[in-house]
Amino acid sequence: RPFQLSIQGSLGAWCSQIPWWDASLKGWSGCSHIVIPKIVDNFLSSEQAVEYASRSFFQFSVLKKLLEEMNFDNYVKYISKYEKFVKSWIQRCLIDHYGEKRSLRDLEKRILSTIINKIKGILKNSINKNNNTVSAFLDSFCKELQQDLVISCNSLVGVQFKSTAKIEQLSDNIRTFLLELEQQILTQFNHLELDTKLSNLSVKPRDEIFKRVFGCGKQCPFCKAPCEAGGTDHKEHFVSVHRPKGLGNFRDRDSQKLEHSICSSDVVSNREFQTVATQGKFHPFKDYRHYYPDWRIQPDPSIDASDYWKFVFKSFNDQLARKYDAKEADLPRDWKNITKEYALRGLKQGFYLKK
Ligand SMILES: [Zn+2]
Ligand SMILES: [Zn+2]
Repeated sequence: RPFQLSIQGSLGAWCSQIPWWDASLKGWSGCSHIVIPKIVDNFLSSEQAVEYASRSFFQFSVLKKLLEEMNFDNYVKYISKYEKFVKSWIQRCLIDHYGEKRSLRDLEKRILSTIINKIKGILKNSINKNNNTVSAFLDSFCKELQQDLVISCNSLVGVQFKSTAKIEQLSDNIRTFLLELEQQILTQFNHLELDTKLSNLSVKPRDEIFKRVFGCGKQCPFCKAPCEAGGTDHKEHFVSVHRPKGLGNFRDRDSQKLEHSICSSDVVSNREFQTVATQGKFHPFKDYRHYYPDWRIQPDPSIDASDYWKFVFKSFNDQLARKYDAKEADLPRDWKNITKEYALRGLKQGFYLKK
């Protein structure tokens, strides 16, 4: 009995230092390569995640929701910091989804038993290897653990296992200990806040979902529309229909009025731009690639802005001007007639074009 206690005490001390069960109970930190894909898959295959089916459908859903709410601050956040906005959107969806405690608890149980089963398998392997001494057995056990689970075994150094211990007895004890550990971890997880669990992972699930579904997240340097090119390894960023630039704080240099022209017309015009990249100097739009070589803006003056963004611009013209410390744009007369219904129709058309 005293022997077993000392082994369990040592194992306890050791296991409590395994990163996935860290002393401060911050969650899954050491096993994130197993945990994160599971959380992400579980979320993406849920009913709530229909809007994540494709990048264009997600962008459509976000813009539709923004239109329903017509909240100026949210629009500004979306336009100016697209990636940040989208990530906090995803985080909210994750919290909504896992807010019902049961669904996360079930997932945690499944993930934990995957990990514990892995450790059990490794344990069995180490026994089968016919190691002669306890320290050889522990050595091989630890080596395999590290390969599979990115678990650091440094903490074993300094833990004194009695060399008289039998390997079978030791592995039995480890097995019993794992069982108890599984229960302990589950109980402790119940007391953790959802936000804490999701935020303490080395890669945040929201970032992983963002990467998988949204690609690069870069925004047009002029109108701030997000890149639509697939994957993350494309060489050139691309937007099918650019937005009236004043939405992204573009203004006429003399009058300080916000501008409503769109990038695909500007790049065939004789106009000039001035951005942070040009260090305040004016530069011809035609030669925008000098400063933005990774952007490809199709030069086509026949492309018109969508009714969606015309509606948003005309609805918030004065607020945008105040926000950007500029003057209101002189918008074309016919924009006045654009209603919310037209805006939604324009959004849908854009979505089907992209599909
Ligand atoms: Zn643009
Ligand atoms: Zn891109």
